[in-house]
Amino acid sequence: MRLASIASGSSGNAVYVGTEHTHILVDIGISNRRIEQGLNDLGLAADELNALVVTHEHLDHVKGLPVFMRRHLVPLYATAGTLEMLRNHGMLEGVEKDLIHEIRAESRFSVGDLSLLPFAIDHDAAEPVAYRIMSQKKAVAVATDMGHFTEEIVSHLLQLDAVLLESNHDVRMLEAGPYPYQLKRRILGDLGHLSNENAGRLLKRILHDGMKQVFLGHLSKENNFPALAYETVRCELGGTAKDLPIAVAARDRLSPVCEF
Ligand SMILES: [Zn+2]
Ligand SMILES: [Zn+2]
Repeated sequence: MRLASIASGSSGNAVYVGTEHTHILVDIGISNRRIEQGLNDLGLAADELNALVVTHEHLDHVKGLPVFMRRHLVPLYATAGTLEMLRNHGMLEGVEKDLIHEIRAESRFSVGDLSLLPFAIDHDAAEPVAYRIMSQKKAVAVATDMGHFTEEIVSHLLQLDAVLLESNHDVRMLEAGPYPYQLKRRILGDLGHLSNENAGRLLKRILHDGMKQVFLGHLSKENNFPALAYETVRCELGGTAKDLPIAVAARDRLSPVCEF
C-alpha cells in the first residue's frame, strides 16, 4: 500500500491511497492543476484513479470536484448527506448518475483491491466521515475535521500501518489570535477541529508496534505551524515511540510517500 498527502491544511486537502492495482483520492479540495501535478509526482494520471471518495462538503475538501468530475469518468463516493449538499451547491451538475455512489458510515465498500470503511466523525457538516482503508492485512486511515475523538473513533484507528491525522491548531494561538469569538468557539467546539494536543492524545491511544508512519495534517494557517504541531504531538507521546516517523503534511506540496 501507499499513502501520500498531495495537499493538506485548512486551505485545501487531497490524499492519495493506493496499491499496485488500485488508486484513490480522499477529498479534492484543491485545483485540478494541482491534483494532476501531485498525481504526476506519484507516477499517475488522473484517468488512472479508480475512485474519488469525499469526507464532507466543506470547500477545502471538494473545491476541485466539479471540474474533475466533468473531465474524468471516475466514480465518486460520499454519504447521502454530503451528496445532498454537493447537489444543492450545483457541484454535481452534468455528472453521470452511474458515477455517483452513496455510502454509509459503518458500511464497508470495495474499490478494486481496497476495502473502505467510512466511520462517523463529529464536525459541523451534513454527514461527515473519516475512512479506514484496507488491503489484505494492511490498513491506513485518513481522519481529519473532527471536533473531538470518541472511543468509537479510537476503535476504527487501531492496528493501522499509517495514518493521516488532523492536528489543526494550537489552542493558545487560536485563543490569542485574530479570529472572531464565534469562529474560535466553533473551531474549539465538539463539531470543530482537533487541536495539536488532542491529536497527540489520540495518537497515543492508537500507537502500536506496527505503525510505520504518521502524517499530521489539516494544519490551520493562522493558528498553527508545522514545528509546533510536531513538538506538541511528540510531547504528548512522552518517551514512547521515539523512533516513529512523524511528518507534517505540507499545505502545498506532496508529502513523503509512505509505502509498505
Ligand atoms: Zn470541514
Ligand atoms: Zn477541512
